[in-house]
Amino acid sequence: MEDKKKVLILFCGGTIVMEEKEDGSLAVPDSQDSAISILQNVEPRLSTIADYDIEFIANIDSTNITPADWDKMLYQIKAKYQDYDGFVITHGTDTMAYTASALSLAIIGLGKPVVLTGSQIPGEKIESDARRNLVNAFRVAIMDISGVFIVFDERIILGSRASKASESKLDAFLSVNSEDAGEIAIDIKIKDWVKKRNREPHQVEIRPGFEPNIFVYTLSPGCDPHGLELLLADQKLKGLIIRAYGTGNIPYGFENFFRKARERNLPVIVTSQCLHGRTLMPLYEVGRKALELGAIEGHEESLESLCVKLMWGLRHFPDQIESLI
Ligand code: ASP
Repeated sequence: MEDKKKVLILFCGGTIVMEEKEDGSLAVPDSQDSAISILQNVEPRLSTIADYDIEFIANIDSTNITPADWDKMLYQIKAKYQDYDGFVITHGTDTMAYTASALSLAIIGLGKPVVLTGSQIPGEKIESDARRNLVNAFRVAIMDISGVFIVFDERIILGSRASKASESKLDAFLSVNSEDAGEIAIDIKIKDWVKKRNREPHQVEIRPGFEPNIFVYTLSPGCDPHGLELLLADQKLKGLIIRAYGTGNIPYGFENFFRKARERNLPVIVTSQCLHGRTLMPLYEVGRKALELGAIEGHEESLESLCVKLMWGLRHFPDQIESLI
């Protein structure tokens, strides 16, 4: 008989452990212990799937997550890597896709599953989606696959492709410009292209450190390029993402901004405002021009993934941001 599997939960708070206040608002419990016991009560039989331990990272609304929390997760995964078959990160949904992208980038040589999950409805409520998501995250965390994933509702999504698409539906996440990595049905179905677990003895490496001082700017018709030029004067600013139109098109008038950004050696990534689709900047003159002036094309990546690549790249490969995309 195969040994019982072991899972490490990295506890990060989120709605899954939140309590409803008298005014109807939701907040994480004041005490760390009660937050953890809410999680344990979501499904007391979890250990029939895998023995597990809980490591505390944070008890926060994920709106308040910072790169320092990502680093804590990375250090825990590195330190406990040999002791567990898989990792489950319980996390608020608002920034889960950013965390999933961050871990996807900064863990090198991952040969096991790292699965993020949470819930849209507090775990203590009878109608909560927490039990189902947590149980399925555990099931995926002991499977014969490797990589960072979000398991939510019926979807298994590659961490670097995930985006939160609904603030209220239980099916809250989708894969951006990619198919899901798998599906939770009666059985769990995993796509053939998903990497298998590395069954050979192996080490995992991590590269913590993310530059938080980036800015995301959304174009709107008639917007004044001067605003962006002013931003360049802030020496704390290290990188910019412009949410442009369609295939990555930027109106006339931004030439000076691009020239100044180049002088300052500040990377500017251009992505599309379209809900679906990717950039194709050479297609129109208004996109091509920005490329010629030094813009970095965002291609098919989600905004979450681009932000994290910029933040991580600025710390580790400041002159090669383009090659990360
Ligand atoms: N605001 C919450 C959070 O991100 C939302 C959730 O968990 O669903 O922590």
